[in-house]
Amino acid sequence: MSEAGNTNNQELRFHAIGVDRLRVINDGAGITTLVAGYGCPLRCKYCLNPQCFEQKHPVKSYTISELLEEVAVDDLYFQATGGGIVFGGGEPLLQADFIHAFRAACPKEWKLYLESSLAVPEKELLKIIDDIDFFLIDIKDMDPEIYHAYTGQQPDRMLHNLKLLADHEKADKTTLRIPLIPDFNDENKRKQSVEQLQQIGFSDFDLFEYNVSLALGKRI
Ligand code: SF4
Repeated sequence: MSEAGNTNNQELRFHAIGVDRLRVINDGAGITTLVAGYGCPLRCKYCLNPQCFEQKHPVKSYTISELLEEVAVDDLYFQATGGGIVFGGGEPLLQADFIHAFRAACPKEWKLYLESSLAVPEKELLKIIDDIDFFLIDIKDMDPEIYHAYTGQQPDRMLHNLKLLADHEKADKTTLRIPLIPDFNDENKRKQSVEQLQQIGFSDFDLFEYNVSLALGKRI
């Protein structure tokens, strides 16, 4: 019996701030459904999803069978396009037991994607490291001072877990998202981040700029 089979899956629940169907996350990934988890260990200054840690925001709680039933409406799209489910958030690794059990329960043809900042203990990443087909990792910045100023946390867990991904030969299944963050980093600092990450073994980078007015506008 698998580890998932030993878990009492009926007791597992995924706390979600939303489910978003019919998405295309990048070329070749197919049609996906985003399942956005509640909770995040970071407090990014320009967070676009503050509802993931605001207690007043309504949260929906799913058992494995309830979530399967909700997302299975797009089974044909997933199978025809090579798509599947994106676990994002917030920080979906806070609910790694559920994701592991979901992998065992969902059709094996569905791809599973993870959008994460990796700011969690390594045991959470290890629970799902072989369940995920593709990782989308939100780096912020590799400079510890910038990372701390922007997120309120030290980058130690993110760095440790990045090396874990590389050690488990997941670098070629990973895109690292590195933003230009107004008032926090610049092109030069971002270039240094890319070089550091290349030394760890990563080569696929999504470089973009935060839309600060969008983030701040959500708080007005
Ligand atoms: S990691 Fe994402 S969800 Fe969490 S605070 Fe930062 S931007 Fe918001």
